[in-house]
Amino acid sequence: MGRIPEHVIEQIKESNDIVDVVSSYISLTRKGQNYWARCPFHQEKTASFSVSQSKQIYHCFGCGAGGNVINFVMTYEKITFPEALHALADRAGISLEEYTYQPSDEEKSISSRLYELHRLAIDVYKNTLKSPEGKAAREYLIKRGLDEHTLSTFEIGFAPDAWDTLLKTALKKKFDENLLILSGLVTESERKKRYDRFRNRIMFPVFDTRGNPVGFGGRVLTGDDQGAKYLNSPETPVYHKSRILYGLHKSRDAFYVTMVTKQDKKLPLKQVLFSPPRGYPAGY
Ligand SMILES: [Zn+2]
Repeated sequence: MGRIPEHVIEQIKESNDIVDVVSSYISLTRKGQNYWARCPFHQEKTASFSVSQSKQIYHCFGCGAGGNVINFVMTYEKITFPEALHALADRAGISLEEYTYQPSDEEKSISSRLYELHRLAIDVYKNTLKSPEGKAAREYLIKRGLDEHTLSTFEIGFAPDAWDTLLKTALKKKFDENLLILSGLVTESERKKRYDRFRNRIMFPVFDTRGNPVGFGGRVLTGDDQGAKYLNSPETPVYHKSRILYGLHKSRDAFYVTMVTKQDKKLPLKQVLFSPPRGYPAGY
């Protein structure tokens, strides 16, 4: 692990054209030499936010915000300099592995056990959705316009209305109880009683950019009296919400993650899942 050298930072900047990056977040209009938009950092009716492709900088004549592509991503995503560097390096296919913290074998095996546990949970939830217990959930999803193909593509499932379905299945499959707690799929009461976190919820698995299942978003099926309408997995060693960035990752799974975890609760489910953010490549 080490500091990322200046020449690599330069390479990251050069490989991420500021117009491309900014327009993956907001739509820009070309006028003369520069690109313009309403400023994403202050409220305004006319466009005073400009991006210069030749200088690779942005500047807002209204609020004074300005900087290079890294500053833009930091400010827009509210993330740190190293986080923005990693995101932009990732976007440009630049490896920062030699400057990055390398997990030990033990940590690696915890990660792979967590992936396996999430895979098991996906299967449990998918089977429940297909069972008589999942009938109401299935009807709800179909009513919202999701067909069989969509349900299987996104591996959508249903967490049964019970306290220990996943807990029991996972213990039978020899998963360690501490790992279950670490995953957030099982939780512990003050009196040390362990139970399934997700119950009676439609389950949307969340995948990392390599396709490993790392978490869930769960939407309650019946009225709001049964707890939060949306419940997401907590942060775990494999699930870092802050690293899932809006607009930068273009893989289907990362896009899906973004939509599930940062969803606008006012949007209907179908729109949450299937409306690409502005600037997202057409044809998704
Ligand atoms: Zn501004």
